[in-house]
Amino acid sequence: MNSKEFKDHIGRVIVSEEEIKTKIKELAKSIDAEYDGKPLLLVSILKGAFVFLADLLKEISIPCEIDFMSAKSYFESTESSGNVQIEMDLKKDISDYNVIIVEDIVDTGRTLAEIVALLKARNPKSLKVVTLLDKPERRVVEFNADVSLFTIPDYFVIGYGLDFGELYRNLPYIAEFNR
Ligand code: 5GP
Repeated sequence: MNSKEFKDHIGRVIVSEEEIKTKIKELAKSIDAEYDGKPLLLVSILKGAFVFLADLLKEISIPCEIDFMSAKSYFESTESSGNVQIEMDLKKDISDYNVIIVEDIVDTGRTLAEIVALLKARNPKSLKVVTLLDKPERRVVEFNADVSLFTIPDYFVIGYGLDFGELYRNLPYIAEFNR
């Protein structure tokens, strides 16, 4: 694919780079205030959330560690749970940590509902979920993140870590994908 074909699929900007930066700074400040003096572990779900994690991490000024998981979902349209396969698990025992799951987008809610249940069973000191984007119209299971930075309509979006066919993760903003 050349750059012309690449650009043809980049639609309207849904969330700009500046808007993302501003919200991440606010979120980092509230994390600094809430977790100072507490062992903090940020858990990112690969691959989509790695850009958000990196930018959030740089704005946090208290001690914190990071770890990664990756998950694959296998769902038929009628199923609501039980089909998330963990492809890569955390390296750490989380029982001594206050854990924040850092996610790119909550869509049907199924992936996070399962990951939260899985991590809760490991008895972290506390567990919260922050997501960059939230598409509440698409929800299939009841799931709400503790913090969602932007609520968006039911568009398929790309950029800032989010892909279409593994491409477009490098855009510094969130855009609608033009088919
Ligand atoms: P859920 O289990 O909430 O349906 O799925 C969440 C995952 O689906 C996200 O982590 C993301 O990888 C993918 N996803 C959901 N909506 C979009 C979207 O609009 N764009 C992209 N690129 N991925 C999405």
